[in-house]
Amino acid sequence: MSLQQIPQRVLDDLIARTDIVELIDQRLPLRSAGNNFKALCPFHQEKSPSFTVSQTKQFYYCFGCQASGNAIGFLMAYDRLSFIEAVEYLARQQGVTLPKEYIGESVHNKASPDYYELLKQVMRFYSATLKANDRAIQYLKNRGLTGEVCKRFGIGYAKAEWDALIKHFGATSVPTLLETGMLIEKNNSRYDRFRDRIMFPVRDKSGRILGFGGRIIDNGEPKYLNSPETLLFHKGSELYGLYEAMQAQRHFDYILVVEGYMDVIALAQYGISAVVATMGTALTQKQMNRLFRTSQEVILCFDGDTAGRQAAWRALEVSLPLLGDERSLKFIFLPEDEDPDTCVRKMGAEAMLKRIKEASPFSEVFIKHLLAQVDTSHVSGQARLMSLAAPLLAQLPQGVLCEMLIEQLGAYTRLDKKRLLQMVFPDQKSTPQKVVAKSGMMGLSAVDKALCLLLQHTKLADLLERVDDLATLPQPQIHLLIELVQLLQLQPGLSTGAILAHWTDPKIQSELAALAARPLLLAEEAAVTHEFVDIIEKLRKEVTSVQLGDLLVRIRQNDLSTLSPTDQARVHELLRKDEE
Ligand SMILES: [Zn+2]
Repeated sequence: MSLQQIPQRVLDDLIARTDIVELIDQRLPLRSAGNNFKALCPFHQEKSPSFTVSQTKQFYYCFGCQASGNAIGFLMAYDRLSFIEAVEYLARQQGVTLPKEYIGESVHNKASPDYYELLKQVMRFYSATLKANDRAIQYLKNRGLTGEVCKRFGIGYAKAEWDALIKHFGATSVPTLLETGMLIEKNNSRYDRFRDRIMFPVRDKSGRILGFGGRIIDNGEPKYLNSPETLLFHKGSELYGLYEAMQAQRHFDYILVVEGYMDVIALAQYGISAVVATMGTALTQKQMNRLFRTSQEVILCFDGDTAGRQAAWRALEVSLPLLGDERSLKFIFLPEDEDPDTCVRKMGAEAMLKRIKEASPFSEVFIKHLLAQVDTSHVSGQARLMSLAAPLLAQLPQGVLCEMLIEQLGAYTRLDKKRLLQMVFPDQKSTPQKVVAKSGMMGLSAVDKALCLLLQHTKLADLLERVDDLATLPQPQIHLLIELVQLLQLQPGLSTGAILAHWTDPKIQSELAALAARPLLLAEEAAVTHEFVDIIEKLRKEVTSVQLGDLLVRIRQNDLSTLSPTDQARVHELLRKDEE
């Protein structure tokens, strides 16, 4: 069960209740322009506004980059929410309770919203406690933090007491406090997990609190303590500071990953806000994926010692399948006894920005790590280098990056590039790019091919008159094709994004989006037209034979004379058509 099965009427209702102009205006000030509203496009760089929001059509589109969609699509693109999260957000905004049976896969939904509310109250409690505690305030001041940045990150303080939370929230909250990891239960007694610590709330993308990190003020162990894994809090998927970074900036040229909460906050205070931290665990592929969705360039910052380099290599390994020609991964290795927090405080933002600018590219770290393990002055060492590299390179998406690495590694061996390629891709005779280029519409059904062509060449809809006769075909996608043709006939020249917005069902949206993104090899207009007409012709023939089949069954059951004159004429016509 997933939210994808939410009935259309629920989604329609949610979209109908939402005013997209208001929704977007809260994030991106709009100014009115005729019947529409305009702003500088948040999805591409521009000097004059081409991002348009239509109140009547309840969708947005950009004349510059063709970004478009409805309220759900905007939340997905701008707030970087998943479909499920966007629907939940709108539902919360509109005070609509989503039917429970439709909520499933979203991890957060396994918990009732009470947990979020409770954690919000806990954060407020910790903030209030901080305001009344000079020692904690002094500590933060000594770390160079202003009240403003502390507020932005929701920093608080947990008193050196064993029962502060229970006293404040009362006995009825004990079960939820336990489930959210705020209390520890041992030998039939319950006590506060966080005591005498500076508290950092960990938020999800929409700002809800999932758990906390706590740093000891004086000396004590452990220095950092996190909420345990709970229904809401999963260290392997969340990134500390991502919400705050996205509040601070829209466009990310890069995103920097550091180790500690204090690093994130200190850098933010110095104006470097595209920074997140992990929660004391190794970077997971899920986190890397989330980072690459936020920015095309991800910079990982580690200590320069052995442990730091090992952690960097592990992060590099999990990132391999995610890398590509469009995405870049870089590394910063800090000198010993330096972390981003101290760096920026001692030397200022410039020093840190310089480190960011001079970060080592993925290829450099990759090759250095491999070279450190072999002696390439011998042939056997050269062979070893390639056998170490091959399984790693094979995980990279095929493309320029992969070829470039093969070439760079080749410089250390006497093997030619062809041989190297064979080592990495033993099953393929041709080079990677050619394999990609062969795809196109291969493997698609006739209906999907027609959809694919239509999505990419919307004018094709004008070639057809009526298509509703195709409705009798058994193919599941046929109704989508008919709807799309009719839509394009009514509204010619719609962008793909605008087309997608006409289907609120995410399954159909993603099917259409996938077809729209397929690389077509038929570049010439004539070839496209020919292919499309051909497919529709074939589908029409199928209709004929399906109808003929039906009539023939009836003839066999009865006989031709029992058919009405119209049906008799139809049989003759169909038989004639079928022979064509
Ligand atoms: Zn745009």
